Amino acid sequence: MGITTWKRRDAGAENTAQGMATEQDAEVREPAASPGRNSLAPDSDRLARWQEIRQEVENCTACSLHTTRTNTVFADGTPEADWMFIGEAPGGDEDRQGVPFVGRAGQLLNAMIFALGMKREEVCIANVLKCRPPGNRDPHGEEVRHCEPFLLRQVDVVEPRVIVVLGRFAAHSLLRTEEPIGKLRGKVFRYGENNIPLVVSYHPAYLLRNPADKKKAWDDLNLALSVVSGNSGSA
Ligand code: SF4
Repeated sequence: MGITTWKRRDAGAENTAQGMATEQDAEVREPAASPGRNSLAPDSDRLARWQEIRQEVENCTACSLHTTRTNTVFADGTPEADWMFIGEAPGGDEDRQGVPFVGRAGQLLNAMIFALGMKREEVCIANVLKCRPPGNRDPHGEEVRHCEPFLLRQVDVVEPRVIVVLGRFAAHSLLRTEEPIGKLRGKVFRYGENNIPLVVSYHPAYLLRNPADKKKAWDDLNLALSVVSGNSGSA
């Protein structure tokens, strides 16, 4: 099938991300010097605020999704991240495990993160909704309204250098727009009280179905990388 993999130049070795290969052999750049917070001792205040939100989510009954969930899906990675990836809502695997972006889509996201020169543990991964909509239906506006305050607080705690929004639904929810994803890509938006730079890209599940668009997704990640390195011209 001519499958090649996303690679990261610094690793000098192909990344198969637990056996998940992409069809895009993209040029991979070393991430811009980003001392970030990962190398620092954990910020105890940040962790305490993070745990407080996690607890509230676990006990949340604000919308009807609490009646059908198996687990709440709060976040994965670290709240001390420079990069935050935000998707739509948990699917079946996520609901069972209580972890966002697992399964094949999660493996592809891991490969994308690795291609950027990072590990999953070094970024923060979350969803707009913390509970699975039954049958993986689209989230309802009322559910987003109830749940987004948790995400805003998460972003406030993490204070990432960039947010990468994965997929049409998450982009529409966070940016309050109905614009097609093709018109949202390639721009730097702002999100939350601290005006965190936000870049829109495709959901990994979409990329699994449409591998030809992996090149565009890589372009999106490079835009986010330029934001982190201060070279985007608009951040
Ligand atoms: S989806 Fe969000 S608002 Fe609804 S019950 Fe779950 S945590 Fe609460």
